[in-house]
Amino acid sequence: MLDFTPKEYVDRSALVINPAKTCQPVGAMYAALGIHKCLPHSHGSQGCCAYHRKFLTRNFRDPVMASTSSFTEGAAVFGGGTNLKTAIRNIFSIYDPDIVAVHTTCLSETIGDDIPTFVMEAKVPEGKVVIHANTPSYVGSHVTGFSNMVKGMVKYLAQNSKTPNGKVNIIPGFINPGDMREIKRILKAMGIEFIMFPDTSGVLDAPMTGKYDMYPSGGTKIQDLIDSGNSKETIAFGSFASADGAFELEKKCKVPAKVLKTPIGITATDEFLMAVSRLTGKEIPQELEEERGQVVDIMVDCHYHYHGKKVAIFGDPDVVAALTEFTLSMGMIPKYVLTGTPGEAFEREVRGMLSEAGVDGKVKSAGDLFTLHQWIKEEPVDLLLGTTYGKYISKAEDIPLVRIGFPVLDRSVHSYLPITGYKGAMRIIEMISNALLDRQDRDAADEDLELIL
Ligand code: SF4
Repeated sequence: MLDFTPKEYVDRSALVINPAKTCQPVGAMYAALGIHKCLPHSHGSQGCCAYHRKFLTRNFRDPVMASTSSFTEGAAVFGGGTNLKTAIRNIFSIYDPDIVAVHTTCLSETIGDDIPTFVMEAKVPEGKVVIHANTPSYVGSHVTGFSNMVKGMVKYLAQNSKTPNGKVNIIPGFINPGDMREIKRILKAMGIEFIMFPDTSGVLDAPMTGKYDMYPSGGTKIQDLIDSGNSKETIAFGSFASADGAFELEKKCKVPAKVLKTPIGITATDEFLMAVSRLTGKEIPQELEEERGQVVDIMVDCHYHYHGKKVAIFGDPDVVAALTEFTLSMGMIPKYVLTGTPGEAFEREVRGMLSEAGVDGKVKSAGDLFTLHQWIKEEPVDLLLGTTYGKYISKAEDIPLVRIGFPVLDRSVHSYLPITGYKGAMRIIEMISNALLDRQDRDAADEDLELIL
């Protein structure tokens, strides 16, 4: 077996070892699942589609449905137009979705398939819709793919019919269905009318009913996607996953766009509540003020568990930036902050936070977990905060890992429970405190044992 444990610092520019991201279509497929009665379609070979479905299924522990253009050598040489048109005809007649969301793969992008023309030439039954997004995986990450599919939803569907609906659009970003539910709960508690897109709650966290339903009840309705062009404003959570879709809607339908941090932690949640309150004139209800007060109380009660502890944070840029802000407000030291998604804006934003807090930390976009491991070898941290893939560093360096973000493949239930909003902040504090306490308890037990021996 190859040993990828870093022995000495190696400066690399071309080779990625232990990536902190996955490929664009995974994000596009996830976004498409957030439309009601949508079948995501992977335009490429069966292997790509199988990998993307498996990846999402492992994370959410729910069946992920998607179709494929099933490329063989012929499609690679002559183009995938025939495959896509045949696929669209078969999908509507066999699986009967309301909408098919096509995303491309590396192969179809490399041969230069003209998807809009194929879609125009396809036989789409009356009342049904096909949208598409280009998702070449040699650019960006799964977050880019998510963003591209959200843009595709706007491009194909949103319309300004000059009939204002008084609603607020919410583009939640690449977060779990449990987080989308939490954001919706907050908006409902404030009495705000909204359109959230995409919305995977009720799709990837649907209840067990004893009956298989290919299209569960959740997801944004096509009519709401069309109506998003009549909303007052769009609030986009995260500059990487959501901003492009919001700006596309601003350009197409003149709906003003506002980009906020993913509402993880007290500050980001406060900013979200204040923004929607200012926009709609709605008061922040007592119920939410009470939750906020509970988080502050918990932070006071538990601060000695985590205050001054060094943490390495890695994962998707929008989530990682918000977690950095939250851990700083908890008095922790984000020593290393890394995302696999490329983007200098991430480095600028996080460096700004660290320098304002007087923290001397390393920040990297388009990084990998080998780099993170090298940094930790040079100067260790007390805690890892990130995806399942951090478990190898955790094991090698004996540092506790709090699994958060995407993907978390080796634990369950996480996608049902929020990390957003004040309730999510409580959960993060609980996870961090308990991981650090478990470690302290173990060290204390080891010391006791040594004394006995
Ligand atoms: S070939 Fe491209 S799209 Fe397919 S699984 Fe690999 S990286 Fe993803």
